[in-house]
Amino acid sequence: MSADNNRSGHYKTIRQTCYTANAAYLILRSFYLALFLAAKVYSLAWLTFATIIFYFLCFFLIRKRQYYPYALLCGNEYFAYIITATLLVGFGSGFHLYLIGLAVVSFFTTYFSKNKSKGGSILWAVLSVGIYLMLFFITRNNAPKYLIPDWMETTLMALHIVVAFLFVTFYLFVFTRYSLSLENKIMLESRTDELTQINNRYGLYDYFGQEENKASKSLALFDIDDFKNINDNYGHVAGDFILKRIAAITNEKFADSFTCRYGGEEFVVVLDNEGAYEKLEGFRKAIEAEEIEYEGHTHKITVTIGVASYRKEISIEKWIELADAKMYAGKNAGKNRTVI
Ligand code: GH3
Ligand code: MG
Ligand code: MG
Repeated sequence: MSADNNRSGHYKTIRQTCYTANAAYLILRSFYLALFLAAKVYSLAWLTFATIIFYFLCFFLIRKRQYYPYALLCGNEYFAYIITATLLVGFGSGFHLYLIGLAVVSFFTTYFSKNKSKGGSILWAVLSVGIYLMLFFITRNNAPKYLIPDWMETTLMALHIVVAFLFVTFYLFVFTRYSLSLENKIMLESRTDELTQINNRYGLYDYFGQEENKASKSLALFDIDDFKNINDNYGHVAGDFILKRIAAITNEKFADSFTCRYGGEEFVVVLDNEGAYEKLEGFRKAIEAEEIEYEGHTHKITVTIGVASYRKEISIEKWIELADAKMYAGKNAGKNRTVI
């Protein structure tokens, strides 16, 4: 379920990024077309017109979810366009600035592709630098084919400075947003018990590290009585069903406190010292009274609870150990009780 969510978030990010980027490329190319027509640089205008059609067709590729071929085609098209435009209208037009963005995009593409081999991206980045340098040296020694008006060169250079920054910022923004949301999801999942969907023991360690009012808290550890019999007589699936039900009741009864499945059929509740015993006894009786129906059988469950209040400078392990000792005392005294 959560893996599917991750995957759908992954594809949503790719799809949205491709659509947004493609639309931006189209707007830019249309702007170039207008500029080149105005400056009567017809060969570049024709070429730009052809690329506009190319980017229109790219929408179909994105719709068909051919993201990788799309990225590869666009990347090569950009290389070709940048080289041609720079040789025709000169280095002062700033087309080469796209190359900085392309190096970033190639790593973005790798991150979102199926085989996450970084070799291709490094090659792409090296190619970008190589082409940048090549254009720099060629244009230093050779005049451009067309002399475009000053206003146009200034406009193009200013535009390309902005576009290069936007390019880098856009892809890094999408990347950061995606990886932060993934990080949150993973953090949450690593603290959630798969079966019962309540906190697991890592959640407890996290809580222990963050809770500042520990001095006013008690830690209760409870264990289901004779749970092995349930598994032996009704099977593990019935056992799992009961564990889920007990977890749900625990969460409901201690909605204001920290609760977790510590492991197996043991749970932990961290609650305020005040009234802790009464609350835990109320919970124990509620479990005892509960009739859990599963596949035609009614299961009656009891739990034994051990409670320890916080002691100064105590570690979480020691705190659990103290509660555990009380719980075992309860087991030895006949189970289904709260020992404080
Ligand atoms: P006691 O009253 O002394 O606690 O007896 P018990 O039978 O509950 O204790 P024991 O430790 O012998 O057995 C615990 C059982 O819990 C054994 C194990 O198979 C079962 N168990 C632990 N985790 C799971 C789980 O995720 N699902 C199921 N179905 N059973 C589990
Ligand atoms: Mg048990
Ligand atoms: Mg146990």
